[in-house]
Amino acid sequence: MAIEIKNLTKRFGDFTALSGLNLNIADGELVALLGPSGSGKTTLLRIIGGLEQAEEGEVIVDGANAGTVDIRDRRVGFVFQHYALFRHMTVFDNIAFGLRVRPRNERPGKDEISKRVHDLLKLVQLERLAPRYPGQLSGGQRQRVALARALAIEPKVLLLDEPFGALDAQVRRDLRRWLRRLHDEIKLTSVFVTHDQEEALEVADRVVVMNHGKIEQVGTPVDVYHRPATPFVYAFLGDTNVFHGRLEDGSPVLVGGEPPSEKQETARMYVRPHLMDIEHDRASVESVPAKVMHINAAGPTVKVELETPLGEAIMVELTQDRFLELKLERGTEVFATPRQQQLFKKDDYVI
Ligand code: ATP
Repeated sequence: MAIEIKNLTKRFGDFTALSGLNLNIADGELVALLGPSGSGKTTLLRIIGGLEQAEEGEVIVDGANAGTVDIRDRRVGFVFQHYALFRHMTVFDNIAFGLRVRPRNERPGKDEISKRVHDLLKLVQLERLAPRYPGQLSGGQRQRVALARALAIEPKVLLLDEPFGALDAQVRRDLRRWLRRLHDEIKLTSVFVTHDQEEALEVADRVVVMNHGKIEQVGTPVDVYHRPATPFVYAFLGDTNVFHGRLEDGSPVLVGGEPPSEKQETARMYVRPHLMDIEHDRASVESVPAKVMHINAAGPTVKVELETPLGEAIMVELTQDRFLELKLERGTEVFATPRQQQLFKKDDYVI
């Protein structure tokens, strides 16, 4: 089912939590709402689910206004960070719950419920755990039960709020891949909230990057990562070095060392640490003199922290081979050179 969000504004007292949002989510799409804490992700999700009303604008789910449809007819599946399973019920009963509480004329028969619960247990790969209680499951297993429970009512839309937020890093990664595969199988229109950029980029068909109640950019993971529309999107999606400079005849002039004064500054250059190189001699006019302050070589790449003579930090990520070649040590005087940068003109950001 498609979701259409038009000119949505939500206020809590004087505070505007969402401001004039427009967004279309296609049938069967998996969309991530990504943004820092307080950017309005959960508020938007709750409005889509009909749990919250907006002051202005509308949310159309499957052709009907989300706020006006009777809650029983909404068919929205929710999964929250804290699984909120019923502790005194088995896994089987937890999943069957949504079907058993339906009005008598809509309630499936006992055998039908049993078949549906078993099918769902198979889908979430927990067939053997049907008789267990939530207290006897791991966090990841509980979250999969929560998802099966949300799917039991055959929702038109699945809404997930930080579904893996309470789990440790490894389980999170496993569940992410699992959710992606599950979605490919069931193709249910799904919206999930996360503040974890890696999670959004890995799982979603499209990512909605939010900041201060507004949408900064909507695009595929490749779009938002490689073609960020704003400095905020660039900085939010990964580690970033920011260089200050000016434009001359439309070309950036970034003189290493002295940053221009605020008045002179007309552009900023954003560079990810892995798109920086280190050299012993000045390689170009953009090379910045710096001193090696810290080296972390434990991992697939080597993270080198540099400091410019003005005390600004520069992060560089080198391959292990390049690091060995350079023979860097703490205190070595070097030059840091951007290999690939994203330029934002002054109009694109607020100083
Ligand atoms: P997080 O990742 O921390 O959950 P979020 O992006 O989901 O953040 P929201 O929970 O949507 O953010 O909140 C957006 C803003 O609206 C916040 O500043 C929050 O304090 C405010 N807010 C949310 N709910 C209410 C409420 N019921 N009353 C007043 N302010 C609220």
